[in-house]
Amino acid sequence: MHVHVNAAESVDGKLSTRERKQVAISGDADFDRMDELRAVSDAVMIGVGTVLADDPSLTLKRAERREERVDSGRPPNPVRVVADSRARTPPDAELLDDRAETYVLVSEAADASDIAALESAGAVVVSAGKDRVDLVAAVDELEEHGVEQLMVEGGGELIYSLFVAGLVDRLTVFVGSVVIGGREAPTLADGEGFTDPKNFPKLSLTDVQRLDDGVVLSYDVQ
Ligand code: NAP
Repeated sequence: MHVHVNAAESVDGKLSTRERKQVAISGDADFDRMDELRAVSDAVMIGVGTVLADDPSLTLKRAERREERVDSGRPPNPVRVVADSRARTPPDAELLDDRAETYVLVSEAADASDIAALESAGAVVVSAGKDRVDLVAAVDELEEHGVEQLMVEGGGELIYSLFVAGLVDRLTVFVGSVVIGGREAPTLADGEGFTDPKNFPKLSLTDVQRLDDGVVLSYDVQ
């Protein structure tokens, strides 16, 4: 499995405001770049924090891209995946619509009734982990379901855990020319944070591209 994390952040590394409200950090060209990344992915993953904050559909915006996928024997949209230990995804969330298949990754801490509600809403519920989703086991399970190319769109809690688990292969970040500030505002990698420099994930910068009023930084993770 190849895991590609992509996000948009302010120059001070924030993914949104301290109110966790979605804000436009990038512009049309970056949205189109993100749409293309989705188009070449088998699945697109987010954490339940992003579902609750933004309620995204995670589908492809450009019809030509959906048509191209269908022409090559794939579903029009990539599979959608939510890391959601306690099954908090609302059954009427946009990403449970019928435009693509949706996997909700839960843990043993999830209530059977919440799982049943998600299944009634059309989700495929996969259990991995005791209190929190075990991302290594969950990624193995996704691979069993044919996911080879996984794109992760955030947020910062999920991205940090993926780095801790050593699962990230590639990182692209759009850095918008804006300062958001706020010590409580989500950043690219939140969680507890690394303390020992020898545990910092080592990245190698592969490309720098100017786009909209910002810059896209591309990294391979060693
Ligand atoms: P998040 O990373 O989307 O979701 C975090 C939640 O995922 C956790 O609280 C946890 O809830 C669940 N989870 C399940 N298994 C996990 C694991 N192994 N490790 C970590 N989390 C796990 O939420 P967030 O960090 O709060 O980010 C949401 C904010 O980011 C919003 O403000 C959104 O607008 C912003 N955002 C911005 C971008 C961008 O590109 N600018 C992209 C995405 C999101 P449970 O413990 O209940 O499972």
